[in-house]
Amino acid sequence: MMFQATVLTLYPEMFPGPLGISLAGRALAEGKWSLDAVQIRDYATDKHRSVDDTPAGGGAGMVMRADVLAAAIDGTAKPGVPLLAMTPRGRPLRQERVRTLAEGPGVAILCGRFEGIDQRLFEGREIEEVSIGDYVLSGGETAAIVLLDACIRLLPGVMGAASSGDEESFEAGLLEYPHYTRPQMWEGRTIPEVLRSGDHAAIKAWRVSRAEIDTRLRRPDLWERHIGARVQSPSGAR
Ligand code: SAM
Repeated sequence: MMFQATVLTLYPEMFPGPLGISLAGRALAEGKWSLDAVQIRDYATDKHRSVDDTPAGGGAGMVMRADVLAAAIDGTAKPGVPLLAMTPRGRPLRQERVRTLAEGPGVAILCGRFEGIDQRLFEGREIEEVSIGDYVLSGGETAAIVLLDACIRLLPGVMGAASSGDEESFEAGLLEYPHYTRPQMWEGRTIPEVLRSGDHAAIKAWRVSRAEIDTRLRRPDLWERHIGARVQSPSGAR
């Protein structure tokens, strides 16, 4: 089953953009996923093809109209495909959600612009609001590209058999251990001895320990979650 991505945007020309090259681009060319970039403006009904209007209550900027967006959503909906809207007010995107989405039939993504989207759209449709971080982008398109990139690399056959991605950062609720490669000595620094030992058990133990130490130091928030999850399900620990 092909992963179907639909992006509702005022800038369809931004797609596939970076998703058209490297891993994601190859997977797109090979038919492992499909992309439909839909111009929201095609669903406007007035003669100016307007998609936005001034904010109720006053204030700067413009707000995307619920009626136009609803027409675009309804006109492009695919059965069983979840609808997401990229918004800084949404739930922060995490790897667990990415993995679940990647296991599904695809995703439809609504990209905001201007000041955002008329709130009534979220009340009248089942839409999952997703944020990619605590900062403000100029539009949802780059956020949609981030989300799609994260999903596509997990699709079957995209990364290849050698790398399933399940040892990477966040997959076990931890940051990944650090990596090294040749040259053996660089600017007076060597690769940690254990990684050159050929002792696979010792290497594994070192990696687990570094992942734990680095997560504790760099991301105490993730570490707390990890410890909490480990207490609840000891067998689920890394
Ligand atoms: N007025 C909004 C606010 O303060 O929350 C910001 C609107 S922003 C300029 C325009 C659009 O960019 C948003 O509607 C959303 O689609 C997208 N966007 C901006 N930051 C985002 C983020 N952190 N995550 C996801 N989408 C974002």
